[in-house]
Amino acid sequence: MIGAIIGDIVGSRFEFAKQTNRDFTLFTDECSYTDDTICTVAVADAIMNHRSYKESLHDWCRRYPTPMGGYGERFLTWIESDDPQPTGSCGNGSAMRVSPVGWLFDDYHEVLDEARKSAIVSHNHPEGINGARCVATLIYWLRTCRITKDEIWSAVKRNFHYTIPTLSDIYKIGSEDHFDGTCQETVPYAISCFMESQNFEDAIRIAVAAGGDTDTKAAICGSIAEAYYEIPEQFITKAFDYLPDDILSIIEQFYGNIGMQME
Ligand SMILES: [Mg+2]
Repeated sequence: MIGAIIGDIVGSRFEFAKQTNRDFTLFTDECSYTDDTICTVAVADAIMNHRSYKESLHDWCRRYPTPMGGYGERFLTWIESDDPQPTGSCGNGSAMRVSPVGWLFDDYHEVLDEARKSAIVSHNHPEGINGARCVATLIYWLRTCRITKDEIWSAVKRNFHYTIPTLSDIYKIGSEDHFDGTCQETVPYAISCFMESQNFEDAIRIAVAAGGDTDTKAAICGSIAEAYYEIPEQFITKAFDYLPDDILSIIEQFYGNIGMQME
């Protein structure tokens, strides 16, 4: 969860900016949490406090109506509706918010089912559901050591039908100002960035430097990287400085739930 939030904050200032290389300052005054953090917190809150995904997402997004970078157009209509209905979207929003599912459920079928439930309230396109399931499952597999890093390529292809592109292909696409807004683009890209990385910081830098939807790519990549690498303490402390109290209290509850202490 905090891996996604760190990726979101670090990637936020590059979302609509010129593509960077990997050598940039991670945390600056221009950074902020965005919709990726808000929606991730909403999913965690739903699971831990027995709220429906729909009600929790709707509540949190209305609580934070104008985050940096805003919300996607279709999702904004969803937020503004008093009784929001699924939009048929395959946008990457279902995958960027799903990480708590990979941690708070301990059974493979439950992870798949809850990932689907967290997606369909808004992103009920088959690719929207698939993206959420893939990210949640990878987190679950990696944190429980059910898969090695080398097995990811074939496992993702077999179970979720993604071909993971090479990093050079993604960087090429990023340099053309292409915005990878769908699950079927962003999720395999984010996995490729993780595959290439040597540690958590590396994973975030690679994902941000890939351009396009930088905060979401870094959020998804960071959420997967958290299940595999240790996150440096100072990154967590830095990220906390950007976050309001109600978000921090859900994060604290989340790590209490999975038996980790966050200071
Ligand atoms: Mg965002």
